[in-house]
Amino acid sequence: MTTSTDVIVVGGGINGASIAFNLAKGGLKVSLIEKDFIAAGPTGRSSAIIRQHYSHEVTARMALRSLRIFQNFDDVVGGDPDFHQTGFLLAARPEDVELLEANIALQQEVGIDTRLVSPQEVKDLEPHISVEGIAAAAYEPESGYADPAATTTAYAGRAKDLGADLQLGTRVQKVLVERGRVVGVDTDKGTFQAGAVVVAAGPWTSLITETVGIELPIKASRHQVATYRRPDEFERHMVFAGFDDEVYIRPETGQLMLVGSIEPEEAEAEVADPDSFNERVDFDIVADFSERVARRYPLMEQGTSAGGWASLYDVTPDWHSIICPLPGVEGLYCAAGTSGHGFKLGPAVGEMMADLIINGEKPEADINMFNFRRFAEGETVAGKYEYSIVG
Ligand SMILES: Cc1cc2nc3c(=O)[nH]c(=O)nc-3n(C[C@H](O)[C@H](O)[C@H](O)COP(=O)(O)OP(=O)(O)OC[C@H]3O[C@@H](n4cnc5c(N)ncnc54)[C@H](O)[C@@H]3O)c2cc1C
Repeated sequence: MTTSTDVIVVGGGINGASIAFNLAKGGLKVSLIEKDFIAAGPTGRSSAIIRQHYSHEVTARMALRSLRIFQNFDDVVGGDPDFHQTGFLLAARPEDVELLEANIALQQEVGIDTRLVSPQEVKDLEPHISVEGIAAAAYEPESGYADPAATTTAYAGRAKDLGADLQLGTRVQKVLVERGRVVGVDTDKGTFQAGAVVVAAGPWTSLITETVGIELPIKASRHQVATYRRPDEFERHMVFAGFDDEVYIRPETGQLMLVGSIEPEEAEAEVADPDSFNERVDFDIVADFSERVARRYPLMEQGTSAGGWASLYDVTPDWHSIICPLPGVEGLYCAAGTSGHGFKLGPAVGEMMADLIINGEKPEADINMFNFRRFAEGETVAGKYEYSIVG
């Protein structure tokens, strides 16, 4: 079987689905090819926290643009991402406060609703919290979290409504190139022809680009999440992340609390094969996180473990994505390497990638921050905190 289209998007995670939607909205014929089902990969296991705190202007702008889409999803995309505006607190130790203040000023300049709050204000905003070890915090009233599978399914569904062809259960095996130009992909269900191919396959991306000799500096690393049942009197809390705690914490439906690490060492939990790794949470992580949450929220001493899971981050050396045309093969694009913080940015990435494909490369565009050249040229854009995932 051979199918012909304008653009093939490989991967049905948040990025692939958002890119397919925006390309179809721009009038292009799109095939979205996914080896399993929509949000089958890390996207479907994501904690899906939507915060604005970034230490680069470009990523801060993207986070804000994406937030506006989450807030107005039914109008901009169509459907319900199940966005919960809980508010977000990023708590700093004394040594982080100067940088926190500088980053808040940068974010305020791009229009983000954020402010520095004292430990007493933290306590006023979040009554069940202990402020021990917190010198100050950034408070974002508009932030929260969404349902990653619902969001991604909505994007893919609207892409389909706009004429995109969704090929689920179809594995891309090879990118096809003729005279230096992409002409399509080979899959286990046949050949698909197209003038452009976007690889948005998360931790599998390098495996696909390697079929045309392009090795990307993206490694898969295992990230674990544990959940705990809150006691009845602990009715609500916001999304929280703390440098002293080295974890993020967010509410989950069913009176649960969801916890994950922000330690940069997580990147060292490298996984050789993204199709085969331990998807369960380790017992010692469940025990460790439960101590950390009980220290931060003393009521959680009466909390009980409710299991957890593990999935993959696709991490680059500077913890920022690669979103660009790939060198050497005309018409081949990459949108991957989201480094554990890419769910919230997915709506903006879809718009940026569609603009790049439809209107061509603009050297002044924000997207240049995510070029692939930066690794070879030593111009990486690491975040300013020691916690790389904060960006
Ligand atoms: C546990 C966890 C918690 C996280 N928490 C947050 C958070 O709170 N906030 C945040 O912003 N980000 C978070 N992230 C990161 C975020 O989830 C990811 O950055 C984002 O989901 C990546 O989406 P993606 O579309 O790029 O890739 P993926 O979700 O990896 O999707 C890639 C898709 O490609 C498909 N595919 C692979 N190979 C092929 C092939 N050969 N042919 C066809 N299809 C293929 C896969 O099946 C998969 O569905 C978290 C990630 C994890 C793992």
